[in-house]
Amino acid sequence: MLIVNDEHRLRAGIKSLSKRCSYCSKPLKEYPLIMNDDAGFHVFHAACAAALAIDIQVDLCMFFNPPALCPPLFVLTPPDEAGLCEKKE
Ligand SMILES: [Zn+2]
Repeated sequence: MLIVNDEHRLRAGIKSLSKRCSYCSKPLKEYPLIMNDDAGFHVFHAACAAALAIDIQVDLCMFFNPPALCPPLFVLTPPDEAGLCEKKE
C-alpha cells in the first residue's frame, strides 16, 4: 500500500512517523511510504521498498539461475605424489 499523506497513514494504522523503517531502521519521517502486511506488518521508505524488491529479485534470479561453477585455478597434490619430499630410510 502506498502512503503519501497523513490521512493514508492513519487509515493504515500507523499512528506517527516516528515508527522505524523495516528495512533500514531509520525513522520514517516523510512520505511516500510503502506498507506491506502480507507477512507481518512492515512499513518502508519508498526507496527502501524498491531496494528490497530488487534484492529479492536478484536472490530469486541467483537461486533459479545459479552461475556456472568456475574451474579450479590449480590442483593441490599431496607432497608424496608431487615428488617434493624425499623419504628418509
Ligand atoms: Zn528505510
